[in-house]
Amino acid sequence: MEGYTDVVVIGGGPAGMMAAIKAAQNEASVTLLEKNPLCGRKLAITGKGRCNITNTKSWQEFSNHIHPKSNFLKSSFWGFSNKDAIAFFEEHGLETVLTQGDRVFPKSMKAFDVVDTFVAVMHKYNVDVRTDCELLTITKAPEGGYTCIYVQTTTSSRLVSCMINSKSVVIATGGLAYPSTGSTGKGYELAQSFGHTITECFPSLTALIPKFYSSDFYDIELKNVGLSLFVDKDLVQTDMGDLTFTEGGIEGSLGYRLSRKAVKALKNGTSVELVLDLKPAIDLETLKNRVKREIEKFDWGSNLVNDARMKKLLRKFMPSELINPFVDSNDNLNSHNLAERLKDWRFPIKDYVGYRRAVVTAGGVDLGEIVSKSMQSKLSPGLFFAGEVLDIDGDTGGYNLQTAYSTGAMAGVSAAKYVHNKL
Ligand SMILES: Cc1cc2nc3c(=O)[nH]c(=O)nc-3n(C[C@H](O)[C@H](O)[C@H](O)COP(=O)(O)OP(=O)(O)OC[C@H]3O[C@@H](n4cnc5c(N)ncnc54)[C@H](O)[C@@H]3O)c2cc1C
Repeated sequence: MEGYTDVVVIGGGPAGMMAAIKAAQNEASVTLLEKNPLCGRKLAITGKGRCNITNTKSWQEFSNHIHPKSNFLKSSFWGFSNKDAIAFFEEHGLETVLTQGDRVFPKSMKAFDVVDTFVAVMHKYNVDVRTDCELLTITKAPEGGYTCIYVQTTTSSRLVSCMINSKSVVIATGGLAYPSTGSTGKGYELAQSFGHTITECFPSLTALIPKFYSSDFYDIELKNVGLSLFVDKDLVQTDMGDLTFTEGGIEGSLGYRLSRKAVKALKNGTSVELVLDLKPAIDLETLKNRVKREIEKFDWGSNLVNDARMKKLLRKFMPSELINPFVDSNDNLNSHNLAERLKDWRFPIKDYVGYRRAVVTAGGVDLGEIVSKSMQSKLSPGLFFAGEVLDIDGDTGGYNLQTAYSTGAMAGVSAAKYVHNKL
């Protein structure tokens, strides 16, 4: 199969679909290649199947959640902001709701509805969506523009080799996180083939694995706790929120927020420790007094706290399922040190869960080689990048998807301008 289109978009994730829509809305003919049978496989599992579409924070606050350089995102964020994202979905029939933490979800709480909306809008603007099409190579065509070679898997599972020429290409193949959804790092190889540098990649927003850990912890969820990250014994980050102990380790939105710096440190061979504060809203002295008062209420006299009594006392301070793991991992626990231990439960970390289950990839195509006002490669005119393939990542809370739409929209608009010699 051969042909010509103005813009080829590689990857049918949120960045690629947004790029395709924006290029098509700007009078370019667009073909999108997606290797999976359907677009948006990762998008469909976001937010535990509910999809945290975006976050309504002002740029000033939003930018604090973008790494490593939020400045790079500024132009594209203003080109297609969180408000624009909400308007986009609402305009195309997807009602949204605002929840705690300024997070926005589809009203249906179904990520599939977000995928369907993108697919319907691509259809509306005549984007030629080719699924089951895996891009292999992009080369510069002798007559200008680019040639994309890809294989299409037919319904009878036959592989057909195909080629398409275009004036412009947008690479939106995602990173390395959750490779089962299709993001296997192909974009890095493509970028390198045009001379781009790939900064060091590592999993971010991932579970941290404590040295001493048991199945007693699994599935325990803690609300409004404090967590501090110590790297090489220095406090580097402290935050409050919700944490989950899973089979993988310590995660949940709070755990994820600290994981980026923790993973980086572990990769460098530095010691990492998490310190959990089960009562962050009260100071140590107040908590000591509370412990004292609770003990007095039990009327146990001075002959304090054996194991059974300690467990009874702990019910006043933590969910019952946490009591056994707390007692097991805090040696010499007694009524005098209980308040300290509640505010300072130490978890030396031995490792992190890799890309297999990470939410996002940190690192990627070097931002210094990309024009932030267009997403165009500084090394190869007509080549654009969008989404997680770039060296840009966000915290949990809708920041990553917004980054995908903002950079995707910028890449799509710019690719169309390039096609019409207006860039
Ligand atoms: C479990 C999970 C939950 C998440 N929840 C949220 C959330 O609620 N909110 C939020 O903001 N972020 C969330 N994220 C992060 C967010 O999903 C990603 O940052 C975002 O999807 C990145 O978009 P992208 O388009 O750049 O890449 P992707 O979504 O990874 O899409 C890339 C696409 O390119 C295709 N592709 C790759 N190589 C080729 C090739 N050679 N040929 C053709 N196609 C190719 C892939 O199949 C894939 O469809 C979550 C991530 C995970 C893993």
